[in-house]
Amino acid sequence: ILRRRLGAKLFVAFLSVILIGMVVLAIAIQFSAPTAFTRHMNSTGQGMGMGPGQGQGMMQNFYNNFRGGVNEALGLAALAALVVAVGVSLALSRRIVAPLLEMTVASRRIAEGKYDERVTTRSLDEIGQLGESFNQMAAQLEQVEAMRRQLIGDVSHELRTPLTAIKGSMEGLMDGILPADAETYQQIHAEADRLSRLVDDLQELSRVEAHSYPLDFRETDLSALVATTIKRLTPNARAKRISLTSNLPRDLPRLLADEDRLGQVLTNLAANGIQYTPEGGAVTISAEIKDYVLQVAVTDTGVGIPPEHLAHIFTRFYRVDKSRSRASGGGSGIGLTIARHLVEAHGGKIWAESEGEGKGSRFVFTLPT
Ligand code: ADP
Repeated sequence: ILRRRLGAKLFVAFLSVILIGMVVLAIAIQFSAPTAFTRHMNSTGQGMGMGPGQGQGMMQNFYNNFRGGVNEALGLAALAALVVAVGVSLALSRRIVAPLLEMTVASRRIAEGKYDERVTTRSLDEIGQLGESFNQMAAQLEQVEAMRRQLIGDVSHELRTPLTAIKGSMEGLMDGILPADAETYQQIHAEADRLSRLVDDLQELSRVEAHSYPLDFRETDLSALVATTIKRLTPNARAKRISLTSNLPRDLPRLLADEDRLGQVLTNLAANGIQYTPEGGAVTISAEIKDYVLQVAVTDTGVGIPPEHLAHIFTRFYRVDKSRSRASGGGSGIGLTIARHLVEAHGGKIWAESEGEGKGSRFVFTLPT
């Protein structure tokens, strides 16, 4: 029992302390009693007018009686103390072990999937702190589980939309309602394309969220990276008659970054800028050093973002206007989430600014130099 029960261990520990105390007390009394007795009797004897050497035999008798009395009292006291000690030790060890037992039960429940399980913490000591941490862990698990459910719901919803469109078009074709011409096929192809882009995005998202991609940090030249990004997106910008330019200071410091990933962030932001800017607008990539931190900004003159949405657009699947982004062939609301993860993996921060609808937007991210 001793090896498997903390309560029994504590009980035995308490009891041993008490027993050892009692033994020491008994031994100490045996040693100190004769001297103490003699000293006290001598002073009493003098007070009674007896000279030294008088009544030696009487003293011996006295002492033996005294010793018997002390031992008897000591035995009784020890017995009483032992009974009380056993009771108190039992109660104390139970009390100490009780919260641990509670946590054991709760952790089993959580393992079975009952994530709302919590323990009551009564004390501020280490066991109380353990209970606190236990509850925090349970709360976190509950949150992760809720997020997982939400994610599955979101993903199925996102997949359903293009699938429904494809199925609808196919049925239209089969029933002869839709003409079997290039336009219909293009429409179906566009939806299938959307689907495959969505799956790619999801895969990328799961990779960045799990941090399961190796970041290849190297000295990176930001101006070169911006130039590549602009080159890559110029066809898209031209198609919408949008001017895509950069505005970088000459003395940009070199920075340590994963070139591909940083390029992905720039491309995501600039592509968004182009997508959410009407024809004839402008998208600019700029950079500046502020408080020893490099700030890169992608500014557009587009539709802007209403203030109440600014805080949410980095959340996955979040779109300001679902119908608008869908009609304009828009994405899944994952791009900014990926961008945020990548910037944070570089030790930076990313945020959006906008004066409001129709007033353009500005996406800024920082990179430590
Ligand atoms: P999406 O693939 O839908 O563009 P993102 O994660 O890139 O997904 O963006 C999320 C949402 O943020 C978009 O649906 C859009 O509503 C808003 N948004 C992103 N960039 C801009 C921008 N430059 N101007 C206005 N709104 C934007």
